[in-house]
Amino acid sequence: MKIIVIGGGWAGCAAGLAVRKQGGQVLLLERADMLLGTGLVGGIMRNNGRFTAAEEMIAMGGGEIFELIDQNCLHRDIEFPGHPHASLYNVATMEPVIKRYLLAKGVEIHLKTRIDDVEMKDGEIRAVTGKKGEEKVRFTGDAFIDTTGTAGPPGQCAKYGNGCAMCILRCPTFGGRVSIAAKCGVTEMIGKKGTQIGAMSGSCKLLKESLSPEIGATLNRKGVAVIPIPGHIQNEVELSIKACQQYALPEYHDNLVLLNTGHAKLMVPFFPLEALRKIPGFENARYEDPYAGGLGNSIRYIGMSPRDDYLKVRGMENLFCAGEKAGLLVGHTEALVTGTLAGHNAARFAKKEKLLALPQTVAAGDAIAFVRTQMETEEGLGYKYTFSGSIYFERMKQKGLYSTDPTAIRESVAKAGMTGIFS
Ligand SMILES: Cc1cc2nc3c(=O)[nH]c(=O)nc-3n(C[C@H](O)[C@H](O)[C@H](O)COP(=O)(O)OP(=O)(O)OC[C@H]3O[C@@H](n4cnc5c(N)ncnc54)[C@H](O)[C@@H]3O)c2cc1C
Repeated sequence: MKIIVIGGGWAGCAAGLAVRKQGGQVLLLERADMLLGTGLVGGIMRNNGRFTAAEEMIAMGGGEIFELIDQNCLHRDIEFPGHPHASLYNVATMEPVIKRYLLAKGVEIHLKTRIDDVEMKDGEIRAVTGKKGEEKVRFTGDAFIDTTGTAGPPGQCAKYGNGCAMCILRCPTFGGRVSIAAKCGVTEMIGKKGTQIGAMSGSCKLLKESLSPEIGATLNRKGVAVIPIPGHIQNEVELSIKACQQYALPEYHDNLVLLNTGHAKLMVPFFPLEALRKIPGFENARYEDPYAGGLGNSIRYIGMSPRDDYLKVRGMENLFCAGEKAGLLVGHTEALVTGTLAGHNAARFAKKEKLLALPQTVAAGDAIAFVRTQMETEEGLGYKYTFSGSIYFERMKQKGLYSTDPTAIRESVAKAGMTGIFS
């Protein structure tokens, strides 16, 4: 069996590994020169319900990547407003750790390989085609997984945001995102809230060295720095556009919340540089991601696939999806959970085995099913879903699915009959 994964973000990495664990050959195709996609600039793990989801995955035998991340954290078990027991991975060193691990497990990685078309017959993809550098490439497989994410290309950022802010996806260099499902003729869904189509990414990064030594030292020591924004500057800037509803708390409006992920992660989509430099300690501030972080950020959640709870794309025989492509799912944890299931099911499909849906008695299964139903409604398309806050975390708590006790989590996975299912 041969599975082709298109898009090497967290979802694609998890999918690739899950296929290998089922004994399949897997090719992971990534348009840029590094894996992890938007995970190259993220870093927050295990906050709120993400702790439960990570432990569930470990209990289900799909936890290797979570464990590698845990080992590469700058801070563990820290708290920032509204987010207890968080850990922060080092964005500067994470990618090579994962790349080496996947290679060691036999995932065949093709970087600088951008897929821009599909060959189809009888509702099945036969091959995907594109370019690796200047060379034309064609990859055939038994099943395909679309993990191309929902960020960019620059035309979307220009149309629905403030233009290309030069984010980590580097579309002008590597070419913009191309959705595989859309190339197959699948009508994709678009996140929208009021008049805003898609959503602007919710954090940016400052060079830690460009901040005052006191702020830098606090970040290095505690992982978190909360700096009040003087009232006159709050009035100067408009920060209402947020991708992440889990950060829609007054603390994030009144303060600059900074997290140490290697850089100083600033928990707002963007902040005008001139205004920022008026705040004590930020006089020399400089953006690291996106480079034009004073003006805007990437636009995401345009182009999500209709899918079932096996993460198979509706209307397609052999196409699966995961990560942001599988719904308005925000986060690395969410991408790893769905990526693992999509990879596992693509392998089952190729082996002609019954596909797996995770039961709703575990948070991972409940989130996948809940987001699918929400995305079928106009109102549901106006929200984002994450284990870490907002609507879905509330639901987790109400259903008794949130726990920070690894033993209890292992027990609930065992009760659901899912122990080691991904092993
Ligand atoms: C600035 C920012 C900060 C964030 N911070 C956090 C955080 O701290 N914690 C957290 O949990 N979440 C965070 N998130 C959200 C999180 O990063 C994403 O929701 C999640 O990682 C998405 O993973 P993905 O694999 O679905 O998509 P992506 O990360 O978008 O990956 C998709 C990949 O597909 C590739 N690709 C696209 N089209 C093609 C093609 N045609 N051919 C080949 N390759 C292609 C892209 O280059 C990319 O590498 C952040 C997001 C952003 C933008």
